[in-house]
Amino acid sequence: MGWVGVGVMFDRLRTKLAIVPWFRIIHDKSVKPKHAAIGLLACQNKLPSVDNLQQRGMSLANRCVLCESPEETTSHLFFNCSYSFGIWISVCNRISWQSPPSSLAHMLQWCKHYNKVKARGKLVRRVALVTTLYALWRERNSRIFQGKSTSSSNLSQQIGHSIATRMYHCERSF
Ligand SMILES: [Zn+2]
Repeated sequence: MGWVGVGVMFDRLRTKLAIVPWFRIIHDKSVKPKHAAIGLLACQNKLPSVDNLQQRGMSLANRCVLCESPEETTSHLFFNCSYSFGIWISVCNRISWQSPPSSLAHMLQWCKHYNKVKARGKLVRRVALVTTLYALWRERNSRIFQGKSTSSSNLSQQIGHSIATRMYHCERSF
């Protein structure tokens, strides 16, 4: 493969990302860059979850550290896990969302729907979605690599605080 300049590589990456429908939703100034990075990887199923590492030939026990069920996939971690479900319920209550998302596709539908409503409603959902995905992935890593766990109620509080802080800064900058 020939040498490719950084500008060309960036253009290719940007083109590749632009075709992911999530890109426009997550790559937004209202979303923290580190939250957006995890969100983008999650949407493309490229997070190093156990099932993805196993597919790359790594021999690992497959177990969800959040709920102890014998399955860790991106889909399970974020949507089918009992721990995550409890977090989503709390987040939904905070932002007056009817019910937790059941999949990434479901989340995308919600975002598209709320693109039609007034700016603040769209913004708070966008921030809540990406903040929650990031917090769940961070909690999973904290349990695996640091042996530290946060209760569902404490993590819900942290997420609520993070959403409120982000909204405060976003609204001040608009
Ligand atoms: Zn689980």
